[in-house]
Amino acid sequence: PQYLPAADRYQALPYRRCGKSGLKLPAISLGLWHNFGDVDALATGRQTLHLAFDNGITHFDLANNYGPPPGSAELNFGKVLAQDFAAYRDELIISTKAGYGMWEGPYGEWGSRKYLLASLDQSLKRMGLEYVDIFYHHRPDPDTPLEESMGALAHAVRQGKALYVGLSNYGPEEAQKAIGLLREMGTPCLIHQPKYSMLVRDPEAGLLDVLGAEGVGCIPFSPLAQGLLSDKYLQGIPDDSRAASSTGFLQREQVTPTVVAQLQQLNTVAQARGQSLAQMALAWLLKDDRVTSVLVGASRPAQLADSLHCLQNLNFSADELARIEQILQK
Ligand code: NDP
Repeated sequence: PQYLPAADRYQALPYRRCGKSGLKLPAISLGLWHNFGDVDALATGRQTLHLAFDNGITHFDLANNYGPPPGSAELNFGKVLAQDFAAYRDELIISTKAGYGMWEGPYGEWGSRKYLLASLDQSLKRMGLEYVDIFYHHRPDPDTPLEESMGALAHAVRQGKALYVGLSNYGPEEAQKAIGLLREMGTPCLIHQPKYSMLVRDPEAGLLDVLGAEGVGCIPFSPLAQGLLSDKYLQGIPDDSRAASSTGFLQREQVTPTVVAQLQQLNTVAQARGQSLAQMALAWLLKDDRVTSVLVGASRPAQLADSLHCLQNLNFSADELARIEQILQK
């Protein structure tokens, strides 16, 4: 049956300005790292994409290597785009990235101009797009001049193959330099995508300050720590979880008794706020206005529906914040 998006989709969630740019992003965005590969059921992924768009989620995040196998998430997303979203391209913000290993040989990873521009062409072909909205350098390359990598991003914009550019996994100093270079090149950095959640606090040690001062947006990835920050691991490791899956990046060994004890205590705080643990974990990130959007994953539509409810309570009392810190320091 033909997909028709919900007529009231733009009443569902707030849009937040991405740094000091002209672009607004939905407070919640959907990532396709897991759950959209050839190993996954595309019918479920398609339902998740429909639920997302019906609820105002306009931003979908991909990368060259998402799958498995690498490239298959872009191919599968391209199928759903052609089938269901073709009429809505101008309502969508689609991102992709290059930086990790994608093909054999010296030009298939890291940060050379050769790799980045070839990879973007491949991504466009897989998704059936003329341009992406955001093209990211996926990780810093210590062996390539930053000018070369940033020059390749700027070139992608001038070619019309990307509207904006972004950085991911850059530390505060290298992000600062890259942001300066991109500004000089006339293609300002729109956004930075770091790993950030209640369990991974690195961006608080400088990166968020750089982004705030430079007017660059921030979209934390793995905001639920790959699902740890939900109620799913409170009673062991369910069979249908990422930690149990052979293709998931979360390993069983990461679900330690110490972490589970912390999660249980956090869950008590969440319940007292009238939220699920996942909802509280997302709200906790969005309380910082330097955070533009949280980039969640979902293995089924119901998870995304649950996470969307985080928006009903983004405020934290000083007591709640202190209690959360106390739990996280254990
Ligand atoms: P999350 O931390 O949101 O984890 C998503 C997983 O958590 C889901 O697949 C599901 O796991 C579980 N989950 C989600 N919502 C709920 C819920 N409400 N209740 C219970 N469980 C839930 O993010 P990801 O690690 O998936 O990363 C999100 C996106 O970030 C990626 O798709 C990608 O776009 C981006 N990313 C970028 C990286 C980079 O280097 N730039 C690296 C990693 C991710 P389950 O499968 O167990 O059901």
